[in-house]
Amino acid sequence: MTAGRFAPSPTGELHVGNLRTAIVAWLFARSTGRQFLLRVEDLDRVRAGAEEAQLAELTAVGLTWDGEVTRQSDRQAHYDDAVTRLRRADHLFECFCTRRDIAEAASAPHVLPGHYPGTCRNLSEAEREAARRVRPAALRLRTDVGQYEIRDVLHGGYTGAVDDFVVVRNDGVPAYNLAVVVDDAQQGIDQVVRGDDLLSSAPRQAYLGSLLGLPPVEYAHVPLALNPERRRLAKRDGAVTLEALAAEGWEAAAVRSLILRSLGLPDTSLDAALGAFDPFRLPREPWIVDPSHLSSTDAATVPPNR
Ligand code: GLU
Repeated sequence: MTAGRFAPSPTGELHVGNLRTAIVAWLFARSTGRQFLLRVEDLDRVRAGAEEAQLAELTAVGLTWDGEVTRQSDRQAHYDDAVTRLRRADHLFECFCTRRDIAEAASAPHVLPGHYPGTCRNLSEAEREAARRVRPAALRLRTDVGQYEIRDVLHGGYTGAVDDFVVVRNDGVPAYNLAVVVDDAQQGIDQVVRGDDLLSSAPRQAYLGSLLGLPPVEYAHVPLALNPERRRLAKRDGAVTLEALAAEGWEAAAVRSLILRSLGLPDTSLDAALGAFDPFRLPREPWIVDPSHLSSTDAATVPPNR
């Protein structure tokens, strides 16, 4: 079985940009004969009720998925297993740095901005022993590539930096980059469609996958929805969630039509969009959403329940 997926973090309601990415992921999966899985990425921040709300929002725009929804919080054994394998192969080292330590060391001229400066990479056992008494260690990947290339349907070959990134946080929680790689492989997911804010994380993830002996995945990083100031769309920008739009007279089907039109696809139904879907004709520019223009007059121009 091969599959694509949508993997929201349950931190709040989905906005029209998130729903658009979910629809694109569904179109990619369904148009290539893949299953479409839904995974809730709940290892980090979780807002009570957000998961239920997000599932209801995805359903309201007509999306369906295969099998049960999975939750990262149920999958600890898979992360432990990967950490054990990485540790045995000597790919991990303990890191005791605080954010401040890293910021200070990273300002040295030879360190690339945003990269781990290597402080704890070569500590002696005695140094580690002493450091463990002060604070718990995070586990970082000992990388030796500097950069790594991935293939992306929309971006072609993309080479990005790979530093000694964290795979287990110092509170013992698996880091996003580890969890996502382990889950995708273990769930048979070989197509990763998501917002292009994560494009620069893909080389790290693909490199980690290669160390774990996992097959490469096909990526498609799709342009995000932005507000008129060209910043990432957020709830504070106005009525951009299904709930807020409903209060202004928008039915979920009308929001779906708006999203499909923004993708240059037939807007009558998901199936009609699927029939016309061609990844190479997807817009390559961000979708600019101006909530002050999403008036109920626009909603009214779309016949309800189309
Ligand atoms: N959970 C991540 C997010 O909501 C997405 C992770 C992914 O698609 O790889 O931003």
